[in-house]
Amino acid sequence: MAKNKAIVEERVKALVAEILAEEESFGLEGRRENIDDIEDEMVRIGDMVAREFGTQKLARHTSNACENPQCPHCGSLGELVGEETRKLMTSRGLVPVTEAKCRCPKCRRHFFPSDRNARS
Ligand SMILES: [Zn+2]
Repeated sequence: MAKNKAIVEERVKALVAEILAEEESFGLEGRRENIDDIEDEMVRIGDMVAREFGTQKLARHTSNACENPQCPHCGSLGELVGEETRKLMTSRGLVPVTEAKCRCPKCRRHFFPSDRNARS
């Protein structure tokens, strides 16, 4: 875990350096900014990274749930009927979640196989 944390830290440093270099190339570094402006940017970028992290993590959870979806009522194998996207409110803002929607041929009810993994 400590090794992974160090790797993530290095990647974040590299990404931030890249973003700042890009700002400089657009001539944005000369604008007047104070410590409050910098702090606002810190929060904005931090939240943006957190939302993207949540979006991609949730997408992995919901796509894994799609294999052999079992009806939560009777346990029968459901059939995929489509996808549904909703916005999940997190402490870092809204994050889109796309879930597979299934139908149980036995009880004729719709269900989301990801319910057990990602919904709370
Ligand atoms: Zn069923």
